[in-house]
Amino acid sequence: MTTGKINVSVENIFPLIKKFLYSDHEIFLRELVSNATDATLKLKHLTSIGEASVEYGQPKIEVKIDKEGKKLHIIDEGIGMTAEEVERYINQVAFSGAEEFLDKYKDSAKDTGIIGHFGLGFYSAFMVADKVEIITKSYKDEPAAHWTCDGSPEFTLVASDKQTRGTEIILHIAEDSVEFLEESKIKGLLNKYNKFMPIPIKFGTRKEALPKPEDAPEDYQTEYQEVDNIVNNPTPAWTKQPADLTDEDYKNFYRELYPMQFDEPLFNIHLNVDYPFNLTGILYFPKLAADLQIQKDKIQLYQNQVFVTDNVEGIVPEFLTMLKGVIDSPDIPLNVSRSYLQADGNVKKISNYITRKVADKLKSLFTENREDFEKKWNDIKIVLEYGMLSEPKFYEKAGAFMLYPTVNDTFLTLDELKEKIKDAQTDKDGKLIALYAANKDAQHQYIEAATAKGYEVLLLDSPIVAHLIQKLESDNENLSFVRVDADHIDNLIKKDDTVISKLSDEQQEKLKTVVEEIVPKPTYTVQLEAMDSSAAPFIITQPEFMRRMKEMSATGGGMFGMGSMPEMY
Ligand code: ADP
Ligand code: MG
Repeated sequence: MTTGKINVSVENIFPLIKKFLYSDHEIFLRELVSNATDATLKLKHLTSIGEASVEYGQPKIEVKIDKEGKKLHIIDEGIGMTAEEVERYINQVAFSGAEEFLDKYKDSAKDTGIIGHFGLGFYSAFMVADKVEIITKSYKDEPAAHWTCDGSPEFTLVASDKQTRGTEIILHIAEDSVEFLEESKIKGLLNKYNKFMPIPIKFGTRKEALPKPEDAPEDYQTEYQEVDNIVNNPTPAWTKQPADLTDEDYKNFYRELYPMQFDEPLFNIHLNVDYPFNLTGILYFPKLAADLQIQKDKIQLYQNQVFVTDNVEGIVPEFLTMLKGVIDSPDIPLNVSRSYLQADGNVKKISNYITRKVADKLKSLFTENREDFEKKWNDIKIVLEYGMLSEPKFYEKAGAFMLYPTVNDTFLTLDELKEKIKDAQTDKDGKLIALYAANKDAQHQYIEAATAKGYEVLLLDSPIVAHLIQKLESDNENLSFVRVDADHIDNLIKKDDTVISKLSDEQQEKLKTVVEEIVPKPTYTVQLEAMDSSAAPFIITQPEFMRRMKEMSATGGGMFGMGSMPEMY
């Protein structure tokens, strides 16, 4: 038997670990299952290159609750450790790692909540256990070892008679952590953190119906057998090649990710890049208009199939945080604060890559099946409009697929719109005038009046349209947006002006005087219209600049932060 003192300068590190990781005690399970997974994958690698001459087989990881004994077991069939390796990997490396970590981050990271994401690997076990045992047998032909530590820097290391390869971690759950002896709690944690880890994880057993024999008698009773209850899917869709997946596979994976989400996604984007950073994932455009779960089901971030967080702020561009799905990247630093994250070069590259992929996908959807794309427009427009305003890289590409609906339920790109109005809708300086309505019902008289004159009227009804228009105008010098009820419609030059008023000049003047007496000036102006019988004989308009001023101040003016997003629905 060996006894010894763990090599650490802090007198007792465990109270510190407990204190600093307080916000996220539950991640201990993720860390221990990750270690078990690592150990199994290492063995897989060693056998595949012929370094380990043992049978790899079909190893699994087991998580087991011993309620009476107040213990939680995590058992793997991986490479295991020799006694000497336990000394090296458990006693020394991790402790110095913990010490360094605490030194480095004890002030800055204390309140961020981020600290839990870093984890302390194996030592996070002491957040919930007052004693931890490791019983481990290496794939090398050496006796098994049994390490015990009760939370003081003292440990014991003795030989063990464990015969099978792999490692068993036994947590003696502390009095204040007995919740981790509840089946539902552990099940929930495995589902949250380990749902897509690459090695099958067994948690209990379940009954499975045996197939009915061919010669079964009439009164045959279904027979059951007890099988391992595997709680994870080791090969989630994002780890596969897009070419190997059907539309149905993508939809199924969506349901797997969000079992409570009943709407089907509109389309998906499969991310897959090796260089200059490694990232895989699948993003889904949800049906925004119908989506009440919007805030709840978020994009999930994984590292090597281990769930890390669903706070992807800074990694996914802000306008795309309304999407759903998964991204998996080992190249995102998570051990430090958000401000560091934003400054990290890789993270910025990842965010740009995602923007580009989304823009490319939208473009291909548009060019491959425009009709279908138009059908989806109402559900996606808010994300796209927001992207145009907030992400210059997206804006650059969006011209190729951004649509502007008209009051007649057709859709135009900006280029198509310009082409359409270039002869018939300009002011006296030749500037293109894009007419638009914000509300088809409230403005139907103006819309009718304008369409009667042969003008194209867009229907721009999103809450951020005032900002979008401003942006488009500042980038398209020769284009101006004018609301259909604005005052200078009459100033438009048009090619043919065939509609003639049914009123005589004299009648027109009289009418104008009467109406002008009723409406408040100078906010509104009265214009007599040259119309057919279906439309109104006169319209009352408001100067475009006055209306815009009101509208911009109503949406808060300037740009808007994420805080104002929910009211867009
Ligand atoms: P990390 O996983 O980041 O290396 P940990 O503190 O989680 O840090 O683990 C420390 C080391 O202990 C691992 O690198 C590994 O060598 C060893 N180890 C931990 N758990 C196991 C296990 N289940 N099987 C084999 N080795 C393990
Ligand atoms: Mg680890």
